[in-house]
Formats: sequence, structure tokens, C-alpha cells
Amino acid sequence: AALYGAKAEGRDGVRFHDPELHALLTARATMESELRDALNRDEMVLYYQPQMNAEGRIIGAEALVRWRHPRLGLLTPADFITLAEDTGLILPLGRWVLEAACEQLATWSTHEDSAHLAVSVNVSGRQIRHPEFVGQVLAILCRCGTNLSSLKLELTESVLMDETEHVIRNMDALKSIGVSFSLDDFGTGYSSLSYLNRLPLDELKIDRSFVRDILTDSHSAIIARTIVGLAHNLGLSVIAEGVESAEQRDLLAEYGCHSYQGYFLSPPLPAEQFEQLLLKSLST
Ligand code: C2E
Ligand code: CA
Ligand code: CA
Ligand code: CA
Repeated sequence: AALYGAKAEGRDGVRFHDPELHALLTARATMESELRDALNRDEMVLYYQPQMNAEGRIIGAEALVRWRHPRLGLLTPADFITLAEDTGLILPLGRWVLEAACEQLATWSTHEDSAHLAVSVNVSGRQIRHPEFVGQVLAILCRCGTNLSSLKLELTESVLMDETEHVIRNMDALKSIGVSFSLDDFGTGYSSLSYLNRLPLDELKIDRSFVRDILTDSHSAIIARTIVGLAHNLGLSVIAEGVESAEQRDLLAEYGCHSYQGYFLSPPLPAEQFEQLLLKSLST
């Protein structure tokens, strides 16, 4: 501790005398420049996690980004989304994700089996607030020839905390061309319920934390049931994420929730594997 204290008082400040912190900062800087290059190097890939209805039919998929990192292997968003948000790289990354998802949608829409699929894309706060976002989405949709009503954008409640007017304006514009909106991780954020009326929403997505404890914790069960009722009363659809067992699904169904996503059905899959699962679900 004495040694550390002596270092801390060094004239260059503590930061670069602490080897661990130095290593951390270097790693972060490396990661940032690697992330910057990743898009040009074709290292990003989308996985698709199926969503099913009451009859067990696959009705859509959530696109989830993965980074095929040359040294570290396949990275999930937990490893790089915060860095992307902090550095502003979320804008080009988010645009790439939208483009890739719309291209996939356009491909699927030409096949009978997958023509009616909806694809959900996660959109960060910086994206939805950006003045050029609506134009970007329009340009991508036109270029890909995607059916506008097959694209769903997922926003979290935190997105609605500031610059709400910009967000609502962009949402209204996108809504008017047929894009739909889902409020992700619902119940975990701080949004006031009064927003629910002002936002052009189509769907509430019950957060995994409530679904996880739904069988064991009465509070989680009550919250899940209340969200389902709220959605019904507001004329919105509702989907549960993180459904891992038939028991969880059955209880949600009892509450009136008939759309599910989670390991019970499937983890996120590369596009080809998703297509195989879709074909299998159609033939049974
Ligand atoms: P999210 O939107 O809540 O996505 C669901 C996450 O839960 C995914 O993790 C998924 O793999 C995981 N999951 C799905 N089913 C189950 C289950 O039954 N049990 C458990 N334990 N987990 C399940 P993933 O793919 O690691 O994504 C994490 C978060 O990263 C996402 O959370 C989303 O907020 C963010 N994210 C993913 N892709 C994008 C993107 O393209 N853009 C932005 N801005 N954020 C993204
Ligand atoms: Ca999501
Ligand atoms: Ca979610
Ligand atoms: Ca969640």
C-alpha cells in the first residue's frame, strides 16, 4: 500500500504508473481500433433467434450481432456494445446491422416458407435520436426492396429518457412508412407509463429477468401478468424473452402472452441454421 501511495503521488499522476490500469487502457484502445476496422473487414455477423406464436410456429426472429474477432473468437455484444456506444462507433455498426438484417429479410421474402417473417433489430439511443436516422432506414429499405412491414425496431425505455421529442418524431415518421416498434426489456427501465400513449408502439417485450423467476417468485409472476394485461389494454402485442422451459411458456400463456423467444425454442443461430429450423418447424 505504501508503495502504491508513493506511486500515486508521482508527478505524472497515478494513471500510467499502475500497470494493471495501463494494460486495461491499452487493451481498450486496441479494441477500439479493431472495432473501427471490423466493419470493413467483414468481421461482423448477424445471428437470428426465432420467435414463436401459440401454435409453436416461427413468426419472426431477433437479429443479434456477433463479432468474429480474429484473435478472440466469436464475441457477443456484452464484449463490445458498451465500447461502441462510448466511442460513437455504434452509429456505423448500427447502420451495418440494419443493412444486413434488411438484406436478409429481402432474401427471405422471396421464399414461400419465410415470406411472412418479421425481423426485429435492436436500435440504440444514439441511433434513434440521430437526425439522419429516418433517411438512412428509408434508403436501406429502398435499396434492399424489403417489405416495410416486416421490419421491427426494438428500443429500450432508457432511449426515451432524454430528447424524447426527437425520438417520437423519428418514430412517427418510420411508423408512417410501415416500420413497427417493440419496447425491449420492458419493466426494467424508468419510463413513465404516460409515455406508452405518446409512442407509436406495436409491442411490449417482457424482460428476461421476470420470465426467469416467474415460477419461483410471486413478484416476478405478478409483474409479468401485469405487463401482459397492460399490453392488451393498450391494444399492443406482447412477447416474452428468455423463455427457457415449457413451464414458463405455459404460465405466460395462462396470463395471455402468446409470443415467445428463448432457449426453450432455440438460441440465436446463424442465418442458414435458422432457415433449417424454420423448414423443420413447417414440416411437423
Ligand atoms: P437483448 O435485446 O435483451 O437480447 C436478448 C439477449 O438474451 C441475447 O443476448 C440472447 O442471446 C439472450 N437470450 C435469448 N434467449 C435467452 C434465454 O432463454 N436465456 C438466456 N439466459 N439468455 C437468452 P446477446 O445476443 O448476447 O445480446 C445481448 C444484448 O446486446 C441484447 O440484449 C441487445 O441489447 C444488445 N444487442 C444485440 N445486438 C445488437 C445490435 O445489433 N445493436 C444494438 N444496439 N444492440 C444489440
Ligand atoms: Ca432486443
Ligand atoms: Ca431484450
Ligand atoms: Ca433483457
